[in-house]
Amino acid sequence: DQPTLKQGEMDGATVIARALKEQGVEYVFGVVGFPIIEVGMAVQQHGIKYIGCRNEQTACYAAQAMGYLTRRPVVCLVVSGPGLLHAIGGLANATVNCWPVICIGGSSDVDQEGRGAFQEWPQLESARSACKLVSRPTTLSAIPFHIEKAVRTALYGRPGAVYIDIPGNLVLSTEDEAKIPKLPKVSMIPVCIPPENIMKTAIDTIKDAKKPLVIVGKGAGWSERGPTMVQHFLTKSKLPWLASPGGKGIVSDNHERSVASARSLALREADLIILIGARFNWILHFGLPPRFQKDAKVVQIDIQPEEFHQNVQTTVPLMGDIGETLYAMTEHMKNWHYNVHGDWMKQLMENANKNKQVVEKMASDHKTPLNYYAAYHPIRDFISKNDVLIVNEGANTMDIGRTMMPSNLPRRRLDAGTFGTMGVGQGYALAAALYCRDHSPKTKVLCVQGDSAFGFSGMELETIARYKLPVVTVILNNSGIYRGMTPEDMKSVDGDPTLMYPVLSLSAECRYDQMAKALGGDGCMVRTVPEIADALEKAFKKTDGPTVINAIISTDSERKAQTFHWLTRSNI
Ligand code: ADP
Ligand code: MG
Repeated sequence: DQPTLKQGEMDGATVIARALKEQGVEYVFGVVGFPIIEVGMAVQQHGIKYIGCRNEQTACYAAQAMGYLTRRPVVCLVVSGPGLLHAIGGLANATVNCWPVICIGGSSDVDQEGRGAFQEWPQLESARSACKLVSRPTTLSAIPFHIEKAVRTALYGRPGAVYIDIPGNLVLSTEDEAKIPKLPKVSMIPVCIPPENIMKTAIDTIKDAKKPLVIVGKGAGWSERGPTMVQHFLTKSKLPWLASPGGKGIVSDNHERSVASARSLALREADLIILIGARFNWILHFGLPPRFQKDAKVVQIDIQPEEFHQNVQTTVPLMGDIGETLYAMTEHMKNWHYNVHGDWMKQLMENANKNKQVVEKMASDHKTPLNYYAAYHPIRDFISKNDVLIVNEGANTMDIGRTMMPSNLPRRRLDAGTFGTMGVGQGYALAAALYCRDHSPKTKVLCVQGDSAFGFSGMELETIARYKLPVVTVILNNSGIYRGMTPEDMKSVDGDPTLMYPVLSLSAECRYDQMAKALGGDGCMVRTVPEIADALEKAFKKTDGPTVINAIISTDSERKAQTFHWLTRSNI
């Protein structure tokens, strides 16, 4: 029922839209239905871009990627019950990844609560474990306060997800416009720096180290002056450094003291780790032996106090914003710099060169079916000649992509992240393409996914086609999760497939490229290095929709031999 608005009255949908506009929200991703269709309509009327997705999870992934890329509040709009539940995976992903997102969910009318209302579900309770804040306004005049606080909470301190529950009856109820507060836009993210004496202790600790190593994480990409000041700090200090997966690009991979290719050695032998916006979680092997020295010292910069001493003792905890802290520290460092002609640097560089040669050998073995490294070879060439925002997702596809796709600019790479989420790819690519369209028109979006990863949200190709966004997806198709079967293998299976197909297998050489065509995009299937190179050139000429390059690779291609196994179990 549409409310009949009297002179000087506003309905709930308009109150929500106006408050979002006041807070500078530029994008809303969602899936609408009862009771939030009117909210979707109202946000468009307020000049906020609305992107209708095919699944709430993708809408939530897209919203958080956009939040991370723009450093602004971005909204995910969902319906009650199942709608919100689908989005919770996305909310958890944002919180674990330290990315901001605001989810607004419709819920059943308050006077029907507990009576078996349509899509009734304890939404606040469900969202709570995935969010920094959950809240539910009960009057229209309270809505702007809830939205303003949601924006602050999502962006301030360590970013994360927030959820606002909007009972359906509120959307269509009305209130005097004079009673709806107008709140000022949430201002700049507040920053702090550690006390001077602690920064000086940190510098002394750095000067004392024989084998220091800087690790740059994605917190440094989030901090406003993070990338600039990390670059400044590394230039002045001449310290060897490497990035966490999420920190790639904050400083160029081509930087002269990047020791990314000597990662295992660098971690294992460093006597001091300078940890900048990264966590000693599984990604960094908890900071523990055998991957790290037992008594390695740790100088750490983070904005979240309880992150210090996580898994290992922090020698010098620097609680503060990365950009501002590093700025102050480099001032205190004066003209000191690390001796780049010493043994440690030499050892790291030798090891890095050795490892690079192993990778190059695999990358230049172009016999078909291709191995991962070879399939990445033409992709790497393409990236070196273009400004590309990369979305990378899969198991081996992502691990090897990290090595094979260099990053040269901050926030130009989105991957499965801290939560190791599979299914983020197309949602991130959707957001990335819109971000580039509106904020960075020269940048192209390339999504490189495994066939399994693509499958989680392949339907979003339709969304990308509908909004005419140029996204090129390369599927490194090995016909399975970690590995698959060839078409011949599949034919030879004689018996009940549910008992016979290896659990890792998907359809052999599935035609995802044809799926792209059916959904309004382009597609092609390729098997060789020149074919991939050619397909990339052609695909990036298209400016109004998605292309899927379905690259069939070996069903049992593997990573370069690892000393330690990380994502994959050693026996699969
Ligand atoms: P990675 O995946 O690169 O290891 P994480 O997401 O695990 O990175 O860690 C990022 C860390 O950065 C978090 O502990 C977060 O609290 C911190 N962080 C985020 N923003 C800032 C900032 N502006 N200043 C300092 N630390 C920050
Ligand atoms: Mg696969």
